[in-house]
Amino acid sequence: MTKDRIRGYCPRCGHDQLFEKNHIHHGVHLFLTIITLGLWLVSWVSIAFYHKLRPWRCQQCGWYKPLPRPRARERERSAESDEVRDGQKV
Ligand SMILES: [Zn+2]
Repeated sequence: MTKDRIRGYCPRCGHDQLFEKNHIHHGVHLFLTIITLGLWLVSWVSIAFYHKLRPWRCQQCGWYKPLPRPRARERERSAESDEVRDGQKV
């Protein structure tokens, strides 16, 4: 199974964690749908829907929503405040 990995801030763990995203193998689901005469389609659709809603998963606690890393957010805030200060100077 192929996976994408990112590092993000996990609010449940309280610090940066590794988040993984699994890929759905639609070919396998299509095969299962055919051999079960369409019965597997219900599972396929529910798996795809859940995956669309919550694609990422924290490797420690299972949380699904990685946030930007706090240091990166602080840098963004300071950059925004610099822009405001620059705007006031002009
Ligand atoms: Zn976590």
